[in-house]
Amino acid sequence: MTATQLGEFGMIARYFTRAPKRAALGVGDDCALLAPLPAGQQLAVSSDMLVEGRHFLSTVAPDRLGHKALAVNLSDLAACGAEPLAFTLALAMPRVDEVFLEGFSRGLFALADAQGIELVGGDTTAGPLNICITVFGAVTVGQALLRSGARAGDALWVSHPVGGGLGDARLALEVFRGRVSLPGEACEAVRLRMECPTPRIALGLALRGVASSAIDLSDGLVGDLGHVLERSGFGATIDADALPTSAVLASLPRALQYECGLAGGDDYELLFSAPPGAAPAVLVAARHADVAVTRIGTVEAAAGLRIVDARGAPLQQRYAAFDHFRSDA
Ligand code: ADP
Ligand code: MG
Repeated sequence: MTATQLGEFGMIARYFTRAPKRAALGVGDDCALLAPLPAGQQLAVSSDMLVEGRHFLSTVAPDRLGHKALAVNLSDLAACGAEPLAFTLALAMPRVDEVFLEGFSRGLFALADAQGIELVGGDTTAGPLNICITVFGAVTVGQALLRSGARAGDALWVSHPVGGGLGDARLALEVFRGRVSLPGEACEAVRLRMECPTPRIALGLALRGVASSAIDLSDGLVGDLGHVLERSGFGATIDADALPTSAVLASLPRALQYECGLAGGDDYELLFSAPPGAAPAVLVAARHADVAVTRIGTVEAAAGLRIVDARGAPLQQRYAAFDHFRSDA
């Protein structure tokens, strides 16, 4: 069959239909049917849309895009400490491109299988490439990690790859924009961080009952921490020099390190707070989840965010969150 012969329903059947495992009814009818959660559990729901040219570059390999589209959604479940169950996929694409669909669905299902989550439905239409996933997860009542739970005196932590850091995805974007040039291997390493984020599901689950608040880092540390502080009604001081930084980013000028680490975006790591006495439990959770965590600051009673360097001096430069309707990006 040639690419143009495959229509909407053929495409869904070939690339997005698999026998349901947990769902009572999956792809193929007007609705999917999911069994209700056991008593004492709440459904956690989140949607994220990826638009070509805005959230990803046309140069991204389809399998990495499939991975990322699901990963950014799973990252929201991770931030709430929810266990992933199922997801839907709404996809607009200009034409039926089977090379794209094969790679995209392969990347998507590889991550879905790794996390034990299944695709139960969606929508497919012609249009500019646009991917919207909705994830469903489960969390015990009262155990969800929220943005609003940080308290004065709590330590602020971020997750990151063992031996890696924050800001690599932003660095990769600057390489693509031609602002920074990197040798091939370094370039590929940061590109992987931009295109293949790892959702910190295991860490989110392990932090239930340990962390007082959490958020995933999608729009840059400063902006995302701002959301936590606003919702919690507190301020904070963070040490910019304490941010975990990959060897690649650490080899570049300090100003660029700050910019990528503090205002980068697309990190998909967890930022969380925990009472000072919980540090050993935080480290146990991180070890259990096979991820590194670093303490970057402290929640304080005084409103506002203060960013200092290792000597305690405030940074001169201001860093802002990414905002789709404000940024010139
Ligand atoms: P309806 O017209 O009733 O909205 P559709 O014709 O859009 O249904 O879709 C047919 C079936 O295929 C539905 O079960 C829907 O959930 C599923 N579906 C459509 N697009 C996708 C997709 N991209 N991924 C997974 N399932 C999909
Ligand atoms: Mg219908």
